[in-house]
Amino acid sequence: YHPQSQSISYTTLTRFPPVKLLPPSGRKRVLVTGGAGFVGSHLVDRLMLLGHEVTVLDNFFTGSKTSVSHWVGHPNFELVRHDVVEPFMIECDQIYHLACPASPVHYQFNAVKTIKTSFQGTLNMLGLAKRTKARFLLTSTSGERFISLRQSAFPLWTRFFSHPFKFLSAEVYGDPEVHPQPEDYWGHVNPIGPRACYDEGKRVAETLTYGFHNQDGVDVRVARIFNTYGPRMNPYDGRVVSNFIVQALRGQDLTVYGDGSQTRSFQYIHDLVDGLIALMNSSETRPVNIGNGDEFTILEFAQLVRDIVEDVQRADGVAAPPRVNIIHEGLPKDDPQKRRPDTTRAKETLDWQPRWTVRMGLEEMVRYYKAKMAEGSL
Ligand code: NAD
Ligand code: UDP
Repeated sequence: YHPQSQSISYTTLTRFPPVKLLPPSGRKRVLVTGGAGFVGSHLVDRLMLLGHEVTVLDNFFTGSKTSVSHWVGHPNFELVRHDVVEPFMIECDQIYHLACPASPVHYQFNAVKTIKTSFQGTLNMLGLAKRTKARFLLTSTSGERFISLRQSAFPLWTRFFSHPFKFLSAEVYGDPEVHPQPEDYWGHVNPIGPRACYDEGKRVAETLTYGFHNQDGVDVRVARIFNTYGPRMNPYDGRVVSNFIVQALRGQDLTVYGDGSQTRSFQYIHDLVDGLIALMNSSETRPVNIGNGDEFTILEFAQLVRDIVEDVQRADGVAAPPRVNIIHEGLPKDDPQKRRPDTTRAKETLDWQPRWTVRMGLEEMVRYYKAKMAEGSL
């Protein structure tokens, strides 16, 4: 700024992606906790593009400023470093409550803090929703509620005879009673297992949410999210999608845990964001599964990732490196054997269904990690 020239730039807004201009009546004041994380940052992008006013609360434990830095300075955007374990006051119309580490390496790093974030953080944000009459959406989770069902259903010795390798790696046994999983299956969680801080934290967060709904009339939404992947996913968070892509791009062996017969379904981030926004703006107060129903064994998934990485390299004119191998390592304790959402409710009540096939999503993701590698940040 130069006082004589009065050279204040009136064009600074052009450095931002083009946001929709909404009339004040259509513009919502939206709070996104955990908005600097993987899911949160994509949600923030969409809410900003739609023209809303967005405030992000994040303590940057697993999230990073860079994931939303492209909005810093925009008049509709605010980024606040804050831990949701402490109360926070702001006027808002909608709260997307995402703050919570989501990958096992991160949520097991400090189990007590994880459960405190789920309980105290959700309590604080529900208190805020009650005071401001904001609509509150909790991002809950899916499959972990099926774990100990399998453990308790089969005595210890059967684990060895069913599959010795699984026994060595403390595997889970048998299938869930219900597959795919609908919202009204309550599940059974091991309250003292390594994943308990996350699973039980999410369960108590749901209980709190419906407590505020039934007792205080807070307007609530609960999304039960199934495995999601996409750009900005931390490549070192130990999740299968990031591990396999990074391994394949580096020409390293793909590490399948156990025999690879366990199943998962994978949804692309843009589908999840569509689902979260649709749920928030619907009248559905019951929990809703948001996930992709295409189920893969982890071994099939490893083969698919390997093929797609090769295809992308070929399309980019990169000389094909030798084919990477798929190797087997021990299965983590409490690793669920099957997971696939029943998304009937989302289809019926939100008119939502995934639009990204796994192949389309993986291609994008491979290109993203490839670009990160090329710029030296991975
Ligand atoms: P992430 O770890 O990338 O993002 C979580 C964000 O919350 C990070 O920015 C982190 O810094 C922030 N955070 C953590 N603790 C906090 C605290 N105490 N105070 C303030 N901020 C805090 O995870 P994600 O994959 O983006 O997941 C977002 C939400 O979706 C989580 O609630 C997670 O449980 C849920 N979810 C995600 C998946 C998935 O596949 N990614 C599946 C099921 C549920
Ligand atoms: N997995 C694997 N190799 C890896 C990382 C994960 O075989 O390098 C397996 C893991 O044991 C699990 C599945 O892939 O059965 C999905 O793991 P992830 O951590 O991505 O998600 P979650 O277990 O929470 O569904």
